[in-house]
Amino acid sequence: MCGIFGITDNKDASKLAYVGLFTLQHRGQESAGIVTELGGKLLHHTSMGLVSEVFTKDALESLKGRSAIGHIRYSTTGSSHLKNAQPLVLDSYLGQVAVAHNGNITNADKLKAGLQKNGAIFQSTSDTEVILHLAAKYRGRELEDTLAKNLPKLEGAYSFLFMAPGKVIGARDPSGFRPLVLGKMGKSFILASETCAIDVAGGRTIREIEPGEMVIIEGGKALFRRFAPAKEFTRCIFEQVYFARPDSVVAGRTVQTARYEIGAALARELKGLKADIVSGVPDSGTVYAHGFSKESWIPFQTVFMRNHYTGRSFIQPDQRLREFTAHLKLAPIRDVIKGKTIILIDDSLVRGTTSRKIVKSLKKAGAKKIIMAIASPPIISPCFYGIDTPNKDELIANKLAVEKIRGFIGADELHYLGLESLVHACGDQKDRSFCTSCFTGKYKAAL
Ligand code: SF4
Repeated sequence: MCGIFGITDNKDASKLAYVGLFTLQHRGQESAGIVTELGGKLLHHTSMGLVSEVFTKDALESLKGRSAIGHIRYSTTGSSHLKNAQPLVLDSYLGQVAVAHNGNITNADKLKAGLQKNGAIFQSTSDTEVILHLAAKYRGRELEDTLAKNLPKLEGAYSFLFMAPGKVIGARDPSGFRPLVLGKMGKSFILASETCAIDVAGGRTIREIEPGEMVIIEGGKALFRRFAPAKEFTRCIFEQVYFARPDSVVAGRTVQTARYEIGAALARELKGLKADIVSGVPDSGTVYAHGFSKESWIPFQTVFMRNHYTGRSFIQPDQRLREFTAHLKLAPIRDVIKGKTIILIDDSLVRGTTSRKIVKSLKKAGAKKIIMAIASPPIISPCFYGIDTPNKDELIANKLAVEKIRGFIGADELHYLGLESLVHACGDQKDRSFCTSCFTGKYKAAL
């Protein structure tokens, strides 16, 4: 998972890109970068770390120009290394071209092998660079013609931002796995992974880029062009479950509303459960717990104090660091917990190791009984479309039945939300078309 942000025709382009990336920081914390264009030349600054660490005032000042694209990275393919930080910039027959990518190109290795055979030299180990080499080999008159020729060769998930002198282009894969929205602010167009970044930058959202669609922003105008027929819309449902910020709008409703509805749906599915309090594993679990509380009339209480300075444990790429931060970030509030039967809601259960620590910590703080309720179905299969889920044999629900998982995490009861309820809560009445492959093991796009 990564975050991308682009803005055109604005004297503060790099600063607004900084604001946009800062707003999208939850989507990746490994590296950050911004590219701007000044007089036909692309200027770029990328480094490892958080947006606030990567961009000093001087670094932002040096990124002059009226258009910018930016990226924050969490690696799914390619190692955690500066050479894989984005946007990538390459010289081409069209001049310099920059690219920022969110997703995972599932046939990248195959395409790369073919390109290398014909002499291409890759600068990075990420899947993203493949599109730039394809573009250099199979050319069109303008960048958009070149992309229209080459994007259909890619399989898997991608939302791209491209920048070349005079234009910014956004493109979304034919299934629409990863998000990309278009916004406007005065004369400026904005492209972003989530609507929250458009809001915070001061713009208004126009619409999502459709699956298989490109938007070419040039000369103050946005032109839409289809490069592939849209397949069935298959947005990643994990945007609502975990990744997206609550104030972002996905599939016609804010993520906050979707999560509240999911919590209420969980309460309906678990009607009759008795408990003293309901609570959530911060942050996303809290909204689910509020929805559950409203529907069940079981009072909500906060049982954990979260340390907000440790980062999101799920998106630390190293297992040892992941365990360390998970331990650091949640402190139980003993008075609230002692002697209580607690329904504890979490967004998902992946390996089970974090839940095990959480249950242990609540029991140690004096909880009488822990009923763990998961706001999504069991994850039985990995994601190949840009989310860093572990291998199949590390997914606990792939190996163990629910009762065995309950035993492993040490809870007194364990319940999951049904897939139908999840899908229903995530979209508005018109739009409930999501990818749910990690829950079903059935994949809609080539692997
Ligand atoms: S497999 Fe799961 S995590 Fe991956 S895109 Fe589909 S819903 Fe999202």
